[in-house]
Amino acid sequence: MLSKAKTLWALEQMKLEFPNAQGALNWDTPFHLLMAVILSAQATDISVNKVAPALFDRFPDPASLASADLQEIESYIHSIGLYHNKAKHLKACAQQIIARFDGQVPQSHTDLESLPGVGRKTANVVLGDAFRIPGFAVDTHVARVSKRLQIVKKSASVQEVEQALTAKLPKGEWVIDHHTMILFGRYRCTARNPKCETCPLLSICAEGQRRVNTK
Ligand code: SF4
Repeated sequence: MLSKAKTLWALEQMKLEFPNAQGALNWDTPFHLLMAVILSAQATDISVNKVAPALFDRFPDPASLASADLQEIESYIHSIGLYHNKAKHLKACAQQIIARFDGQVPQSHTDLESLPGVGRKTANVVLGDAFRIPGFAVDTHVARVSKRLQIVKKSASVQEVEQALTAKLPKGEWVIDHHTMILFGRYRCTARNPKCETCPLLSICAEGQRRVNTK
């Protein structure tokens, strides 16, 4: 597996290629970020950003969303995949935030993950971006890059990827490292046809070397 020192170096190289990385979702309040991240599951950030202005305008807070008709919520998000389920989750989530957390988005993993539609990744994104509480959200890009670079073994679960990254990278950098790895995975180490020949990490990446040598 890639050592701690080499993992740190790899992140430095990624940051040189993608400086000042940040999330692509548009939001203005922690509650709206939570809504946006729930909507972004198996959907693109661009598609969520398209529906966000009208959605956020109509539902500025948990109270307005908690009392809305499901059909009305769906009418704002029908262009997004799985919108039936997502509308249910959004409404139930708003209801629980009012009932259990005094109308405020909770600021702990346990409380956030107890909300409908909120998993570990969503909780990490909300804690990191809305509250600057360090967390390492593992999405498909972060997992793929970690496996190709052998930061973790190929069969690692999402939890194992998170554990390895948080053990090897400094806590204060987790939020920006997460965003950096997403951009690196989205534009350099892509799922199909990664751009290995010109990759700054080729010297430490067995997967990249194998791909280059078999071309
Ligand atoms: S060399 Fe290729 S596989 Fe390795 S990190 Fe770079 S793009 Fe990804």
